[in-house]
Amino acid sequence: MEETTDLNRELMLDANATAGLLFEIFGVEMTAEPTECANCGNEAEIGTLLAFTRGPGIVLRCSACENVVLRIVQTPDAIYLDARGAVYLRLAR
Ligand SMILES: [Zn+2]
Repeated sequence: MEETTDLNRELMLDANATAGLLFEIFGVEMTAEPTECANCGNEAEIGTLLAFTRGPGIVLRCSACENVVLRIVQTPDAIYLDARGAVYLRLAR
């Protein structure tokens, strides 16, 4: 395996690759929904966040400052969602 770092963009997937998991968690399509980075205030659709899936779970980072916006870890019993990097998440009704 090649040497990797967390921010190696060659390992990056488009966040749309995680659309299925986000749909499973929230029950609505999330990739077109806006969110705001708690670090730099960048507002962007979730589908434009930088998705890293090589670690334990999925990390979605701000495309402007690379702050971790969302972290999702799945265990056999539960899904853990760490959203402290987002000012808000919007779920369409
Ligand atoms: Zn940011």
